[in-house]
Amino acid sequence: MEAPDTEIRISCICPDPATHPDGDVVRLQWPLPFPTMALLNKTIRWEKSTREGGLPMPAALALLTELYLRHTLASWTLVEDGAPIALNEANVERYLMTVPTAAFEVADRADDLYSEIVLGPLIQRASPSSPGGPTERSTSPTKVNGAASKTSRQSSRSSSSNTETTGIVGTA
Ligand SMILES: [Zn+2]
Repeated sequence: MEAPDTEIRISCICPDPATHPDGDVVRLQWPLPFPTMALLNKTIRWEKSTREGGLPMPAALALLTELYLRHTLASWTLVEDGAPIALNEANVERYLMTVPTAAFEVADRADDLYSEIVLGPLIQRASPSSPGGPTERSTSPTKVNGAASKTSRQSSRSSSSNTETTGIVGTA
């Protein structure tokens, strides 16, 4: 499998916006380390179970967006006074989240990359689990203790549904 594109070029968000005329480059982690994946997944679950009224999808996605920005960046090119700005949550909040266009660009890419692996387990959990076990055993004779049988004999009247042949197919 080809490595996905983890590089996003955004307009320069350095304190001095003239620093990078060609924009800043943010890179996302790939593959996402398991602890990060688990953190995101568990955070969503936690919010879902503890928030009053649950966690509607838009709120879940908004939360996920924030989590992506905080936890999935691998590197960025931000500098201040010639020195690299450390990549950490506080600085993400300060420099990236304050520029919504840039923040959404990064978050959207993160969503493309990670949503399946992060949300996958949640979605699978949401759907009712079908054990699919004992249905295979059709070989056992079906015991019919004929209690309420022979009730309506009328249903055997051949109601052959000829009604289907109306219209649709224009047999020329
Ligand atoms: Zn910059």
